[in-house]
Amino acid sequence: MGFWWRPLSVLASVLLVALILWAGSGWVAALGFLAGIQAFVMLRRLWQEFRLARWLENPDEVEPPDATGTWGDIFYRLQKLQKRQKASRGQLTSALEQFEHAAMAVPDGMVILNGNEQIDWCNPASRTYMGLDCERDRGQFVRYLLRQAHFLEFLDAADFSRRLVCKSPINREITLSLQLVPFGEGKKLLVARDITDLERVDAMRRDFIANVSHELRTPLTVVGGFVETMADAPDLPAAEYRRYFDLMLDHTRRMQHLLDDLLTLSRLESADHKLNDEPVNVPELAASLKAEAESLSRGQHRIKLQLDSTAWLKGSLQEIRSALGNLVSNAVRYTPGGGEITLSWRERDGEGVFAVSDTGEGIAAEHIPRLTERFYRVDRSRSRETGGTGLGLAIVKHVLTRHGARLEIQSIPGKGSTFSAIFPTQHMQPAGVPAGASVIPFPEREQAAG
Ligand code: ADP
Repeated sequence: MGFWWRPLSVLASVLLVALILWAGSGWVAALGFLAGIQAFVMLRRLWQEFRLARWLENPDEVEPPDATGTWGDIFYRLQKLQKRQKASRGQLTSALEQFEHAAMAVPDGMVILNGNEQIDWCNPASRTYMGLDCERDRGQFVRYLLRQAHFLEFLDAADFSRRLVCKSPINREITLSLQLVPFGEGKKLLVARDITDLERVDAMRRDFIANVSHELRTPLTVVGGFVETMADAPDLPAAEYRRYFDLMLDHTRRMQHLLDDLLTLSRLESADHKLNDEPVNVPELAASLKAEAESLSRGQHRIKLQLDSTAWLKGSLQEIRSALGNLVSNAVRYTPGGGEITLSWRERDGEGVFAVSDTGEGIAAEHIPRLTERFYRVDRSRSRETGGTGLGLAIVKHVLTRHGARLEIQSIPGKGSTFSAIFPTQHMQPAGVPAGASVIPFPEREQAAG
């Protein structure tokens, strides 16, 4: 009723005035008055319509018309409506902007394809993984840009539960997992995830299992073969029996060493294996390692100990002993009889350096970066002959990393090698004899740490 009240009351007033004029001055005056009012209303309406049209052409920039009466009401309501729309448009725009920023920041490549498989939008990661450029490639058919046969087959299959694992078309080092997700009317989202690390871990796992199986196969075949021979020929001469037993014992020990080393590695790698922070008496440990080297060498090498520091270390005695013991054992095993092996302990710029030098066969430069990989050996048969498992330096690297230390290898083929374990200042401590510090006795070869 609010809207109608004002025009109806104006109309009633005009009619009243017209009636009074008619009664007082006759019908001509009344009609003249009504015609004048009519003309005024028409002109006013035209004027307000013009102002409304001008405002509606550019409502965000032009000020809304100012009017009274019914037109004022209309303008006021339109302006309210416009304000409400503007606010909800602003909210929508900021939600869209946020969504776009999030999609731009997603580390996976994302491409929106329309019903014709043309690119509608793609994020920056899709450039890294697929070489796409949102500005340049918008509207392009994805088939013309990514032409690998397996990708086209994947698109044709439109099997949304399937993932395609393939190399990135622009970087063969990157392995991608592609997935198509349908949405809207015939649209698709193509998602490209970098699974290079996962693939690498999977390849390492496969290699590891293949290596362990390979390492176990030979000793198991030998032991199995001897057991069969002895079962088939119970009256073998005693000397033959002895020889077979010795060989079986040898191969059984080899398997035992392998399992010990594997267990050590697995313990070192397990997340809940905490590092001890006990005092390690390095000079005493070095003397014990020298005795170990002499026992392994059986008098074939000259073994020297050079102690230029009395400092101790903080860490796990068992792990450090296992790591340094591996370096010592390698020096003995890869140095021909008559050679010299030197164990030394010194400080350099606050760091502790435990070095094992030998005058053995040395290592060609191209092998050095790979020596700490599991089962990597320069000469497989040489390593086996001397009871190696191919895991010794992998254990060394793990132990040193856990102590914030590093391994440096210097070697000249034919002349010898120096393996240095370098411990950081924070793991060094002055000599002393705190309770509980001791050096555990050496087993025949390095046993599992931890
Ligand atoms: P392994 O059980 O075969 O000795 P390691 O991991 O201890 O395994 O060593 C890996 C390889 O590094 C060895 O197979 C050997 O080829 C080489 N190597 C290690 N120490 C020495 C050394 N002191 N002199 C020469 N080669 C060495």
